[in-house]
Amino acid sequence: MSERVLIAGGGPSGMATALFLIQRGVAVTVIERSIEPHADPRAATYHPPTLEMLAPSGVTDDLHSQGIVAPRWQFRDRREGLVAEFDLGLLSADTPYPYRLQCEQHKLVGMMQRRVVNSPLATIIHGATVDEVTQNASQVRIGLSHTDGRREYLSGTYLVGADGGRSIVRKSQNIEFNGFTWPERFLVITTTFDFESLGYAYSSYTMDPVEWAATFKVPGDHGRGIWRCVFPTKPDENEADLLDPVRAMTRLAQFVPESVSGRVVHVNLYAVHQRVAATYRKGRVVLAGDAAHVNNPLGGMGLNFGIHDAHSLAGYLAEAIESGRDTSLDRYDRQRRTVAERYLQAQTIANKQMLEEADRDSRLARQAEMRSIAADPDRAKQYLLRTAMIEGLRAAASID
Ligand SMILES: Cc1cc2nc3c(=O)[nH]c(=O)nc-3n(C[C@H](O)[C@H](O)[C@H](O)COP(=O)(O)OP(=O)(O)OC[C@H]3O[C@@H](n4cnc5c(N)ncnc54)[C@H](O)[C@@H]3O)c2cc1C
Repeated sequence: MSERVLIAGGGPSGMATALFLIQRGVAVTVIERSIEPHADPRAATYHPPTLEMLAPSGVTDDLHSQGIVAPRWQFRDRREGLVAEFDLGLLSADTPYPYRLQCEQHKLVGMMQRRVVNSPLATIIHGATVDEVTQNASQVRIGLSHTDGRREYLSGTYLVGADGGRSIVRKSQNIEFNGFTWPERFLVITTTFDFESLGYAYSSYTMDPVEWAATFKVPGDHGRGIWRCVFPTKPDENEADLLDPVRAMTRLAQFVPESVSGRVVHVNLYAVHQRVAATYRKGRVVLAGDAAHVNNPLGGMGLNFGIHDAHSLAGYLAEAIESGRDTSLDRYDRQRRTVAERYLQAQTIANKQMLEEADRDSRLARQAEMRSIAADPDRAKQYLLRTAMIEGLRAAASID
């Protein structure tokens, strides 16, 4: 039996798992369905612990050379403007990276993949889908369908299911994916309009009872900077209408009239879920990233959480392979699943509820609360420890 870890999915979580495992001297095979990293506009915000985890490989340096440092972020009101601004500099005693770093997720995947592919411990198979999983007491065996029609089987010591929200690996183990799907989809409009010219921080969340918005700056293909705006949609809105660039421009102009001076670059639509797998481990199969948990993107946490899963899992897998005993994987399940429920789900649901608060008095009370937290450095620091994903990691480490 080869002491090799198989990883289904070479997205952010799978590639991070491979990177962290080869750093620990463990051989890996990554199987990725697509040929190139998916370039659609999804994650772009990296929180301090993620930058710390990726630093030893040099990926954090690469992110700094291509990304945008966002030291502050804002809560705004669609009519009243700025409500509260949070300065991540308050975390400078807690992390060497007291800011958010913004860079598109396909660039991060490329940075990790370049390092993995250069390792003699790693094999990456592109253009193959994992569609069969069987395991016994000593190994796991997977079936792959290549895009050219070939069929192949591989065996390894463990299989990591990092194959996204619709994970075939999770389904193959009959693991429930408990939670719910929001009735509305989220519309992402990317524009060249510079929101900074109107006082927006590089990451801002705008409250509104009818149409909230999240706006953030990413480098874009040329590195000069473009802005992504996330809006809710009504459940019955027609998909073709939502994706129409002319209507997207009108929606942007209703949000910020000055945005007509910009150009719409892309329009994308996403279904949004809040779900956590019932277990992250079944025998020699473990789950990480969106295969294990999905959430709304407000707060920029999903991908970061997947990288944190990968970091934790790589340590426990290396320990299991070295010792021949794998109870550490049960600990991985307890730690990461518990914080997915208590922090990832709770925080992202709270973020959405805050932005869409319909009751005027409740909205004003929430805004007053945010202003008072931002004005008090001790409370602001506690709030930032949670929203910058440091508190959840500390909580995970305390679970036995
Ligand atoms: C609009 C939007 C904005 C977001 N913004 C943020 C943000 O700012 N910060 C943040 O942290 N998160 C954000 N997220 C969430 C983030 O995009 C996801 O959490 C992240 O992509 C999860 O990475 P993953 O590797 O677990 O899964 P995926 O990205 O889904 O990758 C899974 C990979 O597996 C491959 N695959 C699938 N099935 C198979 C199979 N059977 N065999 C082989 N390969 C397979 C796929 O091709 C894919 O490459 C956002 C999401 C959306 C929709």
